[in-house]
Amino acid sequence: MNFKTHILFAFLIVLYTKDYFHGGIGFVILVVIGSLLPDLDETKSYLGQRVFLIPWLSKLLFGHRGVYHSILFGLGIGYLVNLVVGYVSGVALFIGYVSHLIMDGLTKEGVALFWPLKWKMKGFVKTGSFLENVIFGIVFILILAKII
Ligand SMILES: [Zn+2]
Repeated sequence: MNFKTHILFAFLIVLYTKDYFHGGIGFVILVVIGSLLPDLDETKSYLGQRVFLIPWLSKLLFGHRGVYHSILFGLGIGYLVNLVVGYVSGVALFIGYVSHLIMDGLTKEGVALFWPLKWKMKGFVKTGSFLENVIFGIVFILILAKII
């Protein structure tokens, strides 16, 4: 999925989770950041084009949609943020991370959600296709429905 779809879906998830965790704007920002982090393993991704060296190295070592696109890695990053910043921040980052995995799990390429297990969550959406735009529109409508 494209970064815009990831951000929009993360925002939808924020609307349903931030009150539970008493999250403010920092919570929202961390969820959105978390929703972009898995694509640090792709040099052509939105984040991959803006971060120096890490995407190139990550893609070389692990490949795109490898370990970075797993719940295990998301848990690890969330746990580190929990230790350094705090529990709610770690949870926010993890929520965003998982939102990314869910959306990529709808694509034909899929994600190895439970890496190192090889099983992949797969769908039928091609990244950047009309169908992704339809999903984007549905998520947008769900956001409006929640806000209004
Ligand atoms: Zn991805």
